[in-house]
Amino acid sequence: MHNAAFAKLGLPHRYELKETADTELAATLDRMRREGDVLGANVTIPHKESVLRLLDEVDDVARRIGAVNTIVSRGARLIGYNTDKYGFEKALETRPPDGSSSSAGFPFFENRILILGAGGAARACALALLERGNNVDITNRDPARAEALARSIEVDGRHPRVVPWPNGPEPGDAVVNATPLGLNGEEILEDVQLPRWVVDLVPTATETPLVKRAKATDNVTVVDGLSMLLHQAARSFELWTGVPAPLEVMRAALPREI
Ligand code: NDP
Repeated sequence: MHNAAFAKLGLPHRYELKETADTELAATLDRMRREGDVLGANVTIPHKESVLRLLDEVDDVARRIGAVNTIVSRGARLIGYNTDKYGFEKALETRPPDGSSSSAGFPFFENRILILGAGGAARACALALLERGNNVDITNRDPARAEALARSIEVDGRHPRVVPWPNGPEPGDAVVNATPLGLNGEEILEDVQLPRWVVDLVPTATETPLVKRAKATDNVTVVDGLSMLLHQAARSFELWTGVPAPLEVMRAALPREI
């Protein structure tokens, strides 16, 4: 996506994958500061939360979420941002291809919404949903991580509520899968009646069992992970380059990414 966008705009940059072990993270960031030859980086599992304390500055949204997925190099300083929240919001504002949503904008206001997972992506979604007055339930395999999320994510004194994993209360108006479950065909929420909206963040071109089941269920609107992937990437691109992302070029390149 990024390389297609750089080529389209005639920019001389390359987007490359760099596997980085926990033990190498600090040294990798020091090299970025010293050599100054990169615009920045995306950060993904498992470094999104641990990278915060290694940066020179963290913007307000990323700090409130407690996770960074984008680093921008400014001179010898590294600044952390979170574009997952933006990507989630844009994915929901965009009408799903089946046109079944009656909402042209962000569809969730003052609803009850269940989030599966308590990692960086769940944190971004929880903040976006709380900001719009929703009641957010969090369920996670490791309940301590869900409790930590619920303590630290807050809007006007409101926090998510922790419910038991895997099937706590019935999902209310929507469920958001913010775990990787489904990527390799894992079934989730099998015994639960699906709510009106199903959002699955797993970025895959092959439908997850949850997406497949939701699409086959009447009156359920589905948002899959590809739209969020596109929009969070576009926002990162804009932070690095300072120019608008060529969204359609990036969308066309999406199938090659996954
Ligand atoms: P993290 O590693 O921060 O969190 C992973 C979460 O998934 C944790 O809550 C973890 O639970 C849970 N989990 C992992 N494996 C299992 C399992 N086998 N059974 C139950 N729970 C499990 O990752 P992120 O939050 O960054 O990402 C989560 C998902 O969201 C991924 O699939 C990622 O690809 C997707 N994502 C999609 C984006 C998009 O643009 N579409 C953007 C960002 C993320 P525990 O705490 O118990 O380990």
